[in-house]
Amino acid sequence: MPRQFFVGGNFKMNPASLEQKRSLVKVLNDAEIDSATEVVVAPPSLYLLPLKESLRKEIQVAAQNCYCKVSGAFTGEISPAQLADAGVPYVILGHSERRTLFHETSELVALKTKAALEGHLKVILCVGETLEEREAGKTADVVNSQLRAVVSALKESDWSNIVIAYEPVWAIGTGKVATSAQAQEAHADIRAFLKEAVSPAVSESTRIIYGGSVTAANCKELSTRPDVDGFLVGGASLKPEFIDIINAKK
Ligand code: PEP
Repeated sequence: MPRQFFVGGNFKMNPASLEQKRSLVKVLNDAEIDSATEVVVAPPSLYLLPLKESLRKEIQVAAQNCYCKVSGAFTGEISPAQLADAGVPYVILGHSERRTLFHETSELVALKTKAALEGHLKVILCVGETLEEREAGKTADVVNSQLRAVVSALKESDWSNIVIAYEPVWAIGTGKVATSAQAQEAHADIRAFLKEAVSPAVSESTRIIYGGSVTAANCKELSTRPDVDGFLVGGASLKPEFIDIINAKK
């Protein structure tokens, strides 16, 4: 079965006001959107429910993070159970900003992924190398080790609810997009790793999306690569050009 193209918008800690949020919703609701593409936007948790209410039904929402417990004394955290109970279908886990700024290890990301899946959420699982790691020829090693932690925590059937986002750290928010050849090579390596570490079926069916300075200008070329199944978009998801990225395959 062909893999459905997937475009996620990671709003990060934006927009700064409700007014900006309303104009983003208007752009998304008024646009002509490729019905063959799955579209998910991830606002700050405060805006998850209002956004879910005001967006057209074809556009889903995702949390940007969750904790690995169902409930308890974990000030500032949100549980997978709470997100699922609120009707939020997706959560982003392992984003490089969480790994770097908030010191999340691959083991914690694996625990969160397991808890999210057990809580009936679908996971956008982010992996990627730094520039130093790429220049040292360690891209595949780094990505495989981030994935291996998750593989060890999951059952084969869990993978049907995971989208992997390959996001090289050097491309996130920098304006330095990976070339389509670099993205294809990294995605093909991830697919080879899944084949070996999980199963050929999971390797074939798992969507692997690219993130890192995707714009309207570069999305079409990236989308032509056979192992690029969509995008996770940061900065450009807050702009009208997000619609062009959603429609990259059209
Ligand atoms: C991201 O934060 O996931 C991301 C890809 O950001 P940007 O598109 O701004 O590089």
